[in-house]
Amino acid sequence: MMEYPLTLQNFLERARKLYKKKELISREEDGSFFRYNYGEMYNRVCQLANALEELDVGKDDRVGTFAWNTHRHLELYFAPACMGAVYHTVNIRLFPEQIAYIINHANDKVLFIDSDLVPLIEKLKDKLNVKHYVIMGKEKSYDTKLEPAYAYEDLISGKPKNYDWPELDEWQTAGTAYTSGTTGLPKGVEYTHRGLVLHSIVAALPDMMGLGEKNNVLHIVPMFHANAWSIPFAATMVGAKQVFPGPHPTPKDLVELIQNEKIDFTAGVPTIWLMVYQFLKENPDYDVSSLKEVISGGSAPPVALIKAFREEFGIEIIHAYGLTETTPLVTLNRPKSYMQLDDAAYYDLKTKQGVLAPLLEMKVVKDDGSEVEWNGRDMGELLVRGPWIAKEYYKDPEKTAEKFTDGWFRTEDIVVVDEEGYVKIVDRAKDVIKSGGEWISSVDLENALMGHEAVAEATVIGVEHPKWQERPLAFVVLKPEYKGKVTKEELIEFLRPKFAKWWLPDDIIFTDSIPKTSVGKFDKKVLKEQFKDYFLKSE
Ligand code: ADP
Repeated sequence: MMEYPLTLQNFLERARKLYKKKELISREEDGSFFRYNYGEMYNRVCQLANALEELDVGKDDRVGTFAWNTHRHLELYFAPACMGAVYHTVNIRLFPEQIAYIINHANDKVLFIDSDLVPLIEKLKDKLNVKHYVIMGKEKSYDTKLEPAYAYEDLISGKPKNYDWPELDEWQTAGTAYTSGTTGLPKGVEYTHRGLVLHSIVAALPDMMGLGEKNNVLHIVPMFHANAWSIPFAATMVGAKQVFPGPHPTPKDLVELIQNEKIDFTAGVPTIWLMVYQFLKENPDYDVSSLKEVISGGSAPPVALIKAFREEFGIEIIHAYGLTETTPLVTLNRPKSYMQLDDAAYYDLKTKQGVLAPLLEMKVVKDDGSEVEWNGRDMGELLVRGPWIAKEYYKDPEKTAEKFTDGWFRTEDIVVVDEEGYVKIVDRAKDVIKSGGEWISSVDLENALMGHEAVAEATVIGVEHPKWQERPLAFVVLKPEYKGKVTKEELIEFLRPKFAKWWLPDDIIFTDSIPKTSVGKFDKKVLKEQFKDYFLKSE
C-alpha cells in the first residue's frame, strides 16, 4: 500500500469537490443567518490561510480562537491546520488568569475573538504576548482597545480564493486545547492530523456516533471545548449539513434550529438536555420530530432525563464518554442487537458510559497494577491507549510523568466493566473511598441518599480511619420541610438494603449547604480538609 498521510487537507478538498450543494448555516451576532456551501467554505478557508500568511503565521505557529460556534470558527479549525500551523481553542469559560496563562503558554501568535467576547480579552491585554488580534462577526470594523486589531471579514476580503497547501506529515500537530484545570493549572494537549482523522472516521461509524452525508448536524458542544467532540471534522469529512448556533445560544434558539433545519444529529452535556427538556415541556408546540437521538457526554445524564426524553419525545439519549486528552471519544453506549432488555435493565444499561471505540485499547487496574475482572463489580482505574490518545502534556514533564505511564494514559476515572464490556464510571480516583483494601464508590452512596424524599443534596467523602484506612462520611442537606424531622439512623436504614454492610457511611452530618466549585460540583477537597481527623478523634 502507499505511504499516504492522514491529514485534514483531504477532508477539506473532498468536501469542496463533492458537496457544493450541501449547506452550512451560521447564526450571526445580530440573530441573522449566514448560509453558504462547502465550495464557498473552501474558498473562505483559502482566503483565511492567505491572510494568516500575511500575518507571518508559519509552520507550527499557534493561532488562538476565543469564540462561539460559528462558521468562522469552523474555518479556523481548517485553515491553520492545513497550512501546517496549529489552531488553539481557548475555553471562554475559564477564569481570566487561566485564560491569560494558556494563551501565553501555547504562545498564540494571533488571537481570533468573537465580537461580544472582546471586553474579556481587553482586560487581559497587558499580560498577553499576542502579536495580532482579529475580531469576528459580520461587520468589517470594530472598536477595540486591542492592537493591532483587524475585523475578520475585512482581513479575508479580496484575498485569493485558493491556496497551495504544503505537503504535510500526518504526525504534524494540527490543533491544541487545554484541560479545564479543576486541579492546578490547565494542561495542554496537542492533536495530530493523524489522530483527528482516525478519530473522525471512527466517531462517524454507525455503532459510534453514527454520522453520514444525509445528516443535518447542529453544533451544540462548544467548539472551544475538546474539539466540539471532533464533530465539525467528522461532519465535514462526510459532507453533512452543518448548523452553527452562534453567540449565547438559548434553549429557544436551539429548539428553533432543530425544528427549522430538521436537525437529526447533535450532541451536548446533560445540563443542555435538561434545559431543552424544560423548554419543550413549557412550549409543546415546537416540532422536534426530526431528532431521533442525541449524544450526551461530559458527565453522566440522570436516568430520569434519559427516560423522559425517550418516553415523552421519542428521543434516545446516547451516552458517550471521553476527556480532552482523548480527542475525546473513548466509549459510547448502544445496546447490542441481541440484548433483550426489560425497562429496568434497559435504563440500567443506558446509565453506563458504553463500550470501547475501535482502534483503542483499555485496561482497568487496581492499586497494585493488576487488572480487574469484567464482572460489573470489581473497581479499578481506567487506562487507555490508541491513535487519538495524547502521549504527553505540552511543555509539562512533571504532569506528563504523573498521567502517562508505560505507554498508557491514566484517566483517573474509577470504573467497573460488565460481562458485555460496558464501562460504568463509579467515581473519580481522588474521591473513591479505600476501606480495608476494598473500594467504595462515593457517587453510588450520594445517588442513593439523594433518592430519599427528604434529601435535597448529599455528598460522601473518605476520611482517614485508624483501622480501615478510610471510612465513608456523608453530608446531607435536608429539604426545608424535612428539617429536624429525619434522623441519621433513618437514612442509614434507607441505604441498608441497597449496599453491602461495609459500604454504609460511619456517620452522617446534617448541614445547611455543601461547598461547591466554580462549575457547581461538590467541592470535596474543602470537606476532606475540614474533617480529616473526624474518625481519628472519635476512636
Ligand atoms: P477537564 O478539562 O475538566 O478534564 P474533560 O471534558 O476532559 O474536562 O473532562 C473529562 C472528565 O469528565 C472525565 O475524566 C470524566 O470524569 C468526566 N466525564 C466525561 N464524560 C462522562 C460521562 N459520560 N459520564 C460521567 N463522567 C464523564
